[in-house]
Amino acid sequence: MNLCGFIPESINEGKGVRAVLFISGCRHACPGCFNKESWDFEAGEPFTNELKTQILQEIANNPLIDGVTLCGGDPFFSAEECALFVSEFRACCPDKNVWAYTGYTFEALMRQPKLRELALMCDVIVDGRFNEQEKDTSLPFRGSRNQRIVDVALSVEKNCVIEVDLS
Ligand code: SF4
Repeated sequence: MNLCGFIPESINEGKGVRAVLFISGCRHACPGCFNKESWDFEAGEPFTNELKTQILQEIANNPLIDGVTLCGGDPFFSAEECALFVSEFRACCPDKNVWAYTGYTFEALMRQPKLRELALMCDVIVDGRFNEQEKDTSLPFRGSRNQRIVDVALSVEKNCVIEVDLS
């Protein structure tokens, strides 16, 4: 797995102050994608153990950080590697949360075991492909109206998609 970007502190990819990892590789090919360079699975640099440790330490040592966000690309095309990272992140930062962005719908993630495994490790998933026809720059944390900010635990409990209350 490659990383094509890392932002140590951001307020744009989820609630609060977040460390954001851009995972290389996406096959959704949404027209109007904001980050076409990230489609290439070889973009950026290898996510080595050394880089992973460095990032985990940086996050753990920053008291401002509320959580980590996985975006890309689409982290669900690297679901096994991302699940490993999230489990290490949970162990080293148990008080912080995890958001992930994906072009898959939440329902599609739940149907595929490896994708489901990563999804269930996240607190929040911003789901669905970017749709140019539904583009809305006023929306917090997403680019088009079809995309949902899904509360994972609540959605699993209720067996239907429940969106996060951002108020
Ligand atoms: S899922 Fe995201 S990264 Fe992938 S093509 Fe769509 S907008 Fe771009």
